[in-house]
Amino acid sequence: MSDITKQSLTELVENIKNKKLSSTDVTKAFIDRSEKSEKLNAYITNDFTSALDKAKKFDQKPNFDLKLPGIPMAVKDLFCTKNIKTTAGSKILNNFIPTYESTVTENIWNEGAILLGKLNCDEFAMGSSNETSFFGNVQSPIDKNLVPGGSSGGSASAVAGQLTPITIGTDTGGSIRQPASFTGIVGLKPTYGSCSRYGIVAFASSLDQAGPMAQNVKDCALLHEVISSYDPKDSTSIDFKRNHYSKKLTNNIKGKKIGIPKEYRVDGMPKEIENLWQKGIQYIKDCGAETIDISLPNTSYALPTYYIVAPAEASSNLARYDGVKYGFRAKGENLIDMYEKTRSEGFGAEVQRRIMIGTYVLSSGYYDAYYLKAQKVRKLIKNDFDEAYKKVDAILTPSTPSSAFKIGEKTNDPVSMYLNDIFTVPVNLAGLPGISIPAGHDSKGYPLGLQIIGKAFDEQNILNIAYAMEEKINFKNKITDWWIK
Ligand code: GLN
Repeated sequence: MSDITKQSLTELVENIKNKKLSSTDVTKAFIDRSEKSEKLNAYITNDFTSALDKAKKFDQKPNFDLKLPGIPMAVKDLFCTKNIKTTAGSKILNNFIPTYESTVTENIWNEGAILLGKLNCDEFAMGSSNETSFFGNVQSPIDKNLVPGGSSGGSASAVAGQLTPITIGTDTGGSIRQPASFTGIVGLKPTYGSCSRYGIVAFASSLDQAGPMAQNVKDCALLHEVISSYDPKDSTSIDFKRNHYSKKLTNNIKGKKIGIPKEYRVDGMPKEIENLWQKGIQYIKDCGAETIDISLPNTSYALPTYYIVAPAEASSNLARYDGVKYGFRAKGENLIDMYEKTRSEGFGAEVQRRIMIGTYVLSSGYYDAYYLKAQKVRKLIKNDFDEAYKKVDAILTPSTPSSAFKIGEKTNDPVSMYLNDIFTVPVNLAGLPGISIPAGHDSKGYPLGLQIIGKAFDEQNILNIAYAMEEKINFKNKITDWWIK
């Protein structure tokens, strides 16, 4: 069967189950394409040899009852994988080999999937362009001058470039949805507490969530039902009844009420984004749903709030990297000198910036003025959504304020880099689910995404809306293969 790598996850599962393809065929096809993708720099570590072994073993003793039978899959290098190097894109973890597996990846392997390798990402998931990785930047399969977005840039490039049929990323402020939008794929940030954070290298613990990135909504729903589970090993994991999201997927969204928040019409937003949004509103109406103008009055405070809360939590989480317990250690004259040198040499500039901001806002003199204030504003942002959801079932916004930008374009201007997440960050602050779906192209032919935000634990609803819209939009990604060796 030709063009294996062009098939969706759902098709591959079907074809393996009815024996039109073996796991070995599929795994080989994705390895072949991955081996030709060096220029994208999507992988940090590959595990191709053992992936092929595992595929052969699966074919000898297949289990077709599994949800991901013999499906190869690469994952973001932020998920701890037992006995396989896990770097978080950082020099400080360059030699870290976990002795345990993250719950989310464990769930994936338990359903029959096979690890292809670990995908590049911004250092400790801090970034919007995958340019902060110690292992070099990732390029977009759409155009060699473009960033794939971040921090799950390797994951986005790998799915859009068909190096893996599907993947998982993490999203603290937009890192699944923004790169999905930049590369023309689907990305879901689940409700906080639905996917276990156990074994995910921590960035900002009250915001981090794992989620699927896929070619289409159905694939996304299927992977979400695999990764979402209650986990006693994560104290913030929530015990609620999970759906068979893919089975229950329906494009019937008649009568749904979709909110259009006026505050997401930000200054300087390109006309193309506004047009895309209007098209989205029309698609919603074409599906028989209704749109309602709403207000989320505290939206403009979301980004400053995030850039206090996230660095504060990061500075605390990253205190563990001291050269003693994990990874890289620099030589020092004494213990303090060793700590200092390890952290100055082991962390990149963006991570150091966040640690400094975080330490500052948590310091005794500034805690009340910054951190405590930010927590209060965070609550107001959450209240805005609660108020809106009294009137609507979901909210439609653009995913990003622009299409993908050029490599190097924003590296010297952190604030303009941070502005990328203006539409995604409020969702993390409120702990809600959000999905980005590809919805069109700008005049340069680059993909643009629309975001659907749901009520907490209402993933099924936003997946259904995304599914219905996807059918109407009929998006075709323009992958140029400029990078194929
Ligand atoms: N771009 C945002 C940041 O740099 C979000 C990152 C993320 O979601 N991991 O903090």
